[in-house]
Amino acid sequence: MIGSGEPLGRVGQVKEVTSLANPIIKDIRALSQKKNRDRSNQFLAEGLKLVIDGLELGWTIRTLIYSKAAKGKSAVERVAARTVASGGLVLEVSEKVLSAITRRDNPQMVCAVFEQRYAPLESLQPKDNETWIALDRIRDPGNLGTIIRTADAAGASGVILVGETTDPFSLETIRATMGSVFAVSVARCGVEAFLKWRSKNPLLLIGTHLAGAIDYRAVDYTVKPTVILMGNEQAGLPDELSAACDHLVRIPQAGRADSLNLAVATGVMIFEARRHMLKVEP
Ligand code: SAM
Repeated sequence: MIGSGEPLGRVGQVKEVTSLANPIIKDIRALSQKKNRDRSNQFLAEGLKLVIDGLELGWTIRTLIYSKAAKGKSAVERVAARTVASGGLVLEVSEKVLSAITRRDNPQMVCAVFEQRYAPLESLQPKDNETWIALDRIRDPGNLGTIIRTADAAGASGVILVGETTDPFSLETIRATMGSVFAVSVARCGVEAFLKWRSKNPLLLIGTHLAGAIDYRAVDYTVKPTVILMGNEQAGLPDELSAACDHLVRIPQAGRADSLNLAVATGVMIFEARRHMLKVEP
């Protein structure tokens, strides 16, 4: 926890910035582009809650940015002290600068630049009762953020991005995760590496497919660690990945729509796979 008794000790270490021409602000604004996020290995998260979540879960803040209106608030002061103590930079900026950084008219009062973090796939060894989600070429940042948030809520262990996917560290995805990006492991790999990893680990690979032969409720998700594999929004799962699955399951549908939204289908699957682990507290 970010305790209230931490020394502030940051007098003179806060830079005041009001100009959009400031090179540090230019660099932060450049993080809206993937190539700059990749090059610097950084990303932007908005809002005091998200920033505190990141810090509490051990992520590193490179730059903390807050508006003059947030100055003096004890939670902001504590986050600023932690940032300085770990070698980060603290900027006090005008509302205009904060709006430009977050691309919003009414920006949150606090945001932070964090270091990106991926879990190396080879290091993942799913254990019994763990559920992982693998996403084939996911395209939509909102879907990815929603899936990371849902995985966190259902106690899944992490998300594996397979193939060319949307960036988990884009502002839109980070917003949609509501802080869960800091709690859920995210790995990325190509199809070949995924299949190799799957063959080395004793796990149940459940593919979801509109032509799946089995009802998703008919699978026993408790026998091994489970990986639920979801298909691309437009194309669904390619044959190469479908063929590697232990089961291909279908979520029965009524009505006219021919498929569910990817994030909704993933939510249905994760909660079913983790049903035995999720209990309502009396
Ligand atoms: N046109 C695509 C197809 O034919 O597969 C639809 C893709 S759907 C929008 C995206 C992904 O969500 C699918 O690949 C599958 O993983 C999952 N999905 C959506 N509805 C599903 C259902 N009723 N049963 C199983 N999986 C489903």
